[in-house]
Amino acid sequence: MQSRPQRKWMYVGAFLLFICAGLKAQGPVITPPESIIAENVPSIPASLAETAGRYGAYRSAGLSDWNPEKLEMLIATRFGDSFSSGRVLGGTGLSNPMKSFSGIERLKLKGRKVEGGYIVRGALPCVSNLGAEHYFGTIFERDDEPGGIVMFLADCSDSAITLQPCKPFLAMDGTGTYGVQFRDAFVPDELILAEQAGPFVKKIRAGFILLQAGMALGLIKDCIAIMDEVDASLGHVNRYLPQQPVQFRELHAEFEKETMALASDPYNADDSYWRRVVALRLRLGDAAVAAAHAAMLHCGARGYLRSHRAQRRLREAYFVAIVTPATKQLRKMLAEF
Ligand SMILES: Cc1cc2nc3c(=O)[nH]c(=O)nc-3n(C[C@H](O)[C@H](O)[C@H](O)COP(=O)(O)OP(=O)(O)OC[C@H]3O[C@@H](n4cnc5c(N)ncnc54)[C@H](O)[C@@H]3O)c2cc1C
Repeated sequence: MQSRPQRKWMYVGAFLLFICAGLKAQGPVITPPESIIAENVPSIPASLAETAGRYGAYRSAGLSDWNPEKLEMLIATRFGDSFSSGRVLGGTGLSNPMKSFSGIERLKLKGRKVEGGYIVRGALPCVSNLGAEHYFGTIFERDDEPGGIVMFLADCSDSAITLQPCKPFLAMDGTGTYGVQFRDAFVPDELILAEQAGPFVKKIRAGFILLQAGMALGLIKDCIAIMDEVDASLGHVNRYLPQQPVQFRELHAEFEKETMALASDPYNADDSYWRRVVALRLRLGDAAVAAAHAAMLHCGARGYLRSHRAQRRLREAYFVAIVTPATKQLRKMLAEF
């Protein structure tokens, strides 16, 4: 069976073949994927593929069924609930945009409007949960409209979008994290999430950050379990350590309660609400590192073994503290409120 990129290339190739038969390509040409042997196929100019690409990028909507109770048609669209149900996988490339909104760095992706979509170029150093058929949401800055920023879905099967494996990390390898390069990728209108990304980001930013709370809460919970596990054999001496499981239990309960309270109202536009989200996220990162540190001290040499999960939790805890919004960014945000 052929993968989607392969199929896509073949369709484009077949369509363009007869157009190109009498042409000699000038300028950049399309390089077929390594998995395709293209003998005696004339070079296909990249500009032609760009022009033809928009005709293959369409959004279908078809009648899939009839709901006899509500007496209405059920229409299936290209995406529908495919992301929320997990049928199509994807991630978020929002670190750079979030940092740019805090004035830490410039937007790394640039785009310009063309008929039927945008042409996007630039590179993002790290995006997780990616694979050949995945999508991810990110933002580019418009070259052709000062101040314009657009949020869109990047389609990883697009041949103008390349995934470069990152160097091995301290932890979190296996998360499908890649450097992503856009080489004048055509992003059709149907993949645009918001032409005016500013107001849209303001709406989703609290939910985006609150979803990260799960990483910290799960990690703290396991660090408490690790400390409990060694209590029987080492409790007589561990009780002299300044940080005990009982304190982390209280913190965990407090954070969980605050997360659930804030998550019940994710579109709240008040500044005071947003400040609470940012403050909670900072405390979650700090507490994750503190809990992992305490778990290491409680375990002693057994936690220092490569096979013990205490050292793994320590490495993972630093991810909670450095993934965007990182501790330093959160502190900057709170300082500037
Ligand atoms: C395992 C892992 C998974 C991640 N997953 C995602 C994700 O899914 N989506 C997403 O948007 N971001 C992701 N990131 C990026 C992350 O959110 C932060 O942006 C990153 O950790 C740096 O944040 P910082 O604010 O500390 O910036 P700093 O570390 O201070 O770096 C500032 C800038 O320097 C550049 N830089 C730093 N290190 C490198 C490097 N190794 N190569 C090239 N440039 C570099 C980048 O432009 C970065 O923004 C991931 C990072 C890691 C380590």
